[in-house]
Amino acid sequence: MRNSRLPAVRVGDIIEVDQGHYCYGLGKLLLEVIEIGHRERHTDGLWLNLRGTELRPADRARLRQRRVLVRLDAVRIRPGSLLRRHRSPTAGRNRSPIGALELPPIIHIPTPPEWTCANCGEDWPCPTRRAAMLKRYADDRRLLYFYLADCLSEACHDLAHVPPHELYARFIGWARR
Ligand SMILES: [Zn+2]
Repeated sequence: MRNSRLPAVRVGDIIEVDQGHYCYGLGKLLLEVIEIGHRERHTDGLWLNLRGTELRPADRARLRQRRVLVRLDAVRIRPGSLLRRHRSPTAGRNRSPIGALELPPIIHIPTPPEWTCANCGEDWPCPTRRAAMLKRYADDRRLLYFYLADCLSEACHDLAHVPPHELYARFIGWARR
């Protein structure tokens, strides 16, 4: 199946999508692609599910990981991808296995709306992240509770189907002694 008009988005690409052509957000989206999901056909064209790191347009600082649905013919692939740098126009027919790619390491951060860990796939905060947070906030546990309460208030919208006591245990309860 060929559709040469549509951009071939690959893991590692930095893509740009204007407001209104992705779900959801304000302004232009700049995203470094981590994972490519399934395509969906809608009345206004082909849409693609992606997971990636949102970059701040001004300086490409990494903001957060997220999942987005983008309209494929509105996607522009920006220069700067580690993977495309040395490709010639005829290269790339053989996709290299994901495991062989030299991507920057992914730290244990949450991926809304599922709030699973971007690295290990466990419910966030995953065991690795919990251990790291306990270490980081060892001197002032209250700061850890404030931080976790913030995360919970952000997550409870996405996780409205999870009973409140389970959310509490998952986000805050584990840290209490
Ligand atoms: Zn993890």
